[in-house]
Amino acid sequence: MADAAVAGVEHFEVATAQRTEMVSITSQVQEAVTAMGRRDGVCHVFVPHTTAAVTINENADPEVAHDALQVIDRLVPFSDAAYRHLEGNSAAHVKAILVGSSEAIPVADGRLQLGTWQGVFLCEFDGPRRRRVLVC
Ligand code: ZN
Repeated sequence: MADAAVAGVEHFEVATAQRTEMVSITSQVQEAVTAMGRRDGVCHVFVPHTTAAVTINENADPEVAHDALQVIDRLVPFSDAAYRHLEGNSAAHVKAILVGSSEAIPVADGRLQLGTWQGVFLCEFDGPRRRRVLVC
């Protein structure tokens, strides 16, 4: 597992509260970029988990995250007779695959170049847990 000793990689932890939720991590990612001294270039955000993911979407109306999770839950039901994974969390694995484990965000003058309505979200699909987010 990657840790804080990896040169050029910042990390932080997020404690999720629900089985499925989207947690805004925009401010923590910006803080990591600042801590790295990144002025211009690209920031990569990576979630080293198999049942959590990272995405970028609307951060103004929380109902957007609610609706997105509702659709994802409908697409990938929690239980399905066809699932074989004995741990019982196949749906969470599939959702993490669909959303993805990383995002790349342009950085200019030390600031994430997100759109007005965009935020960075950790997507929890098998919580509540403590999750780790790497930024480089
Ligand atoms: Zn599993």
